[in-house]
Amino acid sequence: MMEIKHVIIIAVVVILLIILMVGLYSALIMSKRVDKSSNIQPNTNTVESNANTCVCCGEVIPEGRQVCPNCENEAVSKKREDKIC
Ligand SMILES: [Zn+2]
Repeated sequence: MMEIKHVIIIAVVVILLIILMVGLYSALIMSKRVDKSSNIQPNTNTVESNANTCVCCGEVIPEGRQVCPNCENEAVSKKREDKIC
């Protein structure tokens, strides 16, 4: 009787291990597919480009700035008109 119980326990453990392996394998395949699809979409690039472009005209500017020198000069020269952009 003890041998039959051991065989049943071993069989259940083996089945659980197979289910775990199949689940991990499918999870790996799904994660790889998600990574490939996310790499194709340039969402992060657009965000970075927006961070380094002028708010008014969209010209490329160094990091830490929101407005390019041209728009900044226009804003200084036309202080009365607050809404230039
Ligand atoms: Zn500008």
